[in-house]
Amino acid sequence: MSSVIAYIGLGSNLAEPLNQLAKAITELAALPKTTLLGQSPFYRSTPVGPQDQPDFVNGAVSLRTGLTALELLDHLQAIEQRQGRERTRVWGPRTLDLDLLLFGRKVIESPRLIVPHTELPNRDFVLQPLLDLDAELTLPDGRKVANLRAQCPDNALQRLEPGQSSGR
Ligand code: ADP
Ligand code: MG
Repeated sequence: MSSVIAYIGLGSNLAEPLNQLAKAITELAALPKTTLLGQSPFYRSTPVGPQDQPDFVNGAVSLRTGLTALELLDHLQAIEQRQGRERTRVWGPRTLDLDLLLFGRKVIESPRLIVPHTELPNRDFVLQPLLDLDAELTLPDGRKVANLRAQCPDNALQRLEPGQSSGR
């Protein structure tokens, strides 16, 4: 079976974000043809876009998977739905957001799926967890995640220690 390493970004700012992320990771680890390789620490960040919503908790995992990228996206969206995600407004609050950040060294530009994820280079709450998983990680175009992290805008990222609550 051919397989690739995929990186998934997780985010939540409603209904006990830490529990949402933990539950999602359990589901990701149980996907068919898939093994969980690593899990980043979680970070609290201030929202992108509308500020009248709670802070986000973000993290990332690495998976080895024999699924296709679209099959994996289907599973991510099914997990989002099961955890009660409602799409209210763009960049608004959500119980769970699962983004396919990287899929091996593949570049995908289809109507449903763009990989690497479009916002990946601009968001510290995506780049930092990726770096935690692999400090040497590079994008398919050769850019180093470490360099992107050093250059990207600051979202007041705060690392949550295990057992710490996500509230201020
Ligand atoms: P966002 O994560 O940008 O806040 P959503 O989670 O609501 O927005 O996703 C909107 C759409 O983005 C989904 O319907 C999905 O088809 C599409 N999409 C494109 N590329 C990706 C990707 N790499 N990971 C997840 N969704 C993606
Ligand atoms: Mg998303």
